[in-house]
Amino acid sequence: MGANNKTPKMRKANQKVRDDVRRGKRTKPSKCSNCGKSTSKKLLSSHHADHSKQSSVRWLCPKCHKAAEKRKKGGRVNQYK
Ligand SMILES: [Zn+2]
Repeated sequence: MGANNKTPKMRKANQKVRDDVRRGKRTKPSKCSNCGKSTSKKLLSSHHADHSKQSSVRWLCPKCHKAAEKRKKGGRVNQYK
């Protein structure tokens, strides 16, 4: 239990970002927003620090994304009340 805690809200936010990218409303960078490492666009994934704010999306390389998810699971920052 709890291994897959993606909420519908979260999925929707990710879908919106993908949509925006496709429509050219949002540009996907070519480097990680966290460590600044050049990363293939295919590998960069959108990460929402706050799912209620569309503008808070960050693009993370696989390594940083993993770390961010881990931090979230650790419960230090729990936005899903
Ligand atoms: Zn990174």
